[in-house]
Amino acid sequence: MAANKLYEIETYEGYKIEVDEVIKQIEDCPKCGAKLILTHYSDAKNMMMQETSKCLECDYGSRDVLHILS
Ligand SMILES: [Zn+2]
Repeated sequence: MAANKLYEIETYEGYKIEVDEVIKQIEDCPKCGAKLILTHYSDAKNMMMQETSKCLECDYGSRDVLHILS
């Protein structure tokens, strides 16, 4: 049926996006209160996700966090 075929395509594309997508979010800097740039980068091959946060307004610098997706 046509409905089943559509559902399969959506599922496949959803998986692909999850693997490749880099998500950017904004949060507040703990040092100066400016907006931080947050980047999440998933690495499906190594089952890890890297989170990087960076302040553009002060010398807070960047913080990298590795999440293990096991
Ligand atoms: Zn800052």
